Amino acid sequence: MIKKTSYPRQLVIGDEVWSVKFVRKLDGCYGECDPSNNEIRIRMKQSHDETLKTFIHEVVHALEFSFEFDLEHRHVYALEEAVFQLLRDNFLTLKDD
Ligand SMILES: [Zn+2]
Repeated sequence: MIKKTSYPRQLVIGDEVWSVKFVRKLDGCYGECDPSNNEIRIRMKQSHDETLKTFIHEVVHALEFSFEFDLEHRHVYALEEAVFQLLRDNFLTLKDD
């Protein structure tokens, strides 16, 4: 598990800076990737795991924009799950106790 406070507020992706914002409301979704102003928005009040999955999902979309490739959405979901498990099983040691 990872604490919300340990998410970066900014991400460098390619040669651009993206901001990461946690918001109370999003229209019917858990996250949003807005390439018009390089902003990733993540809905608050998700579980820790769901927050991380949403974060990964939106970062993958940002990577698509920045590196100019186009994934089918099912592949974005597949990467979301795969990267989530990779991080959980190998890298994440932060516990939200
Ligand atoms: Zn998506």
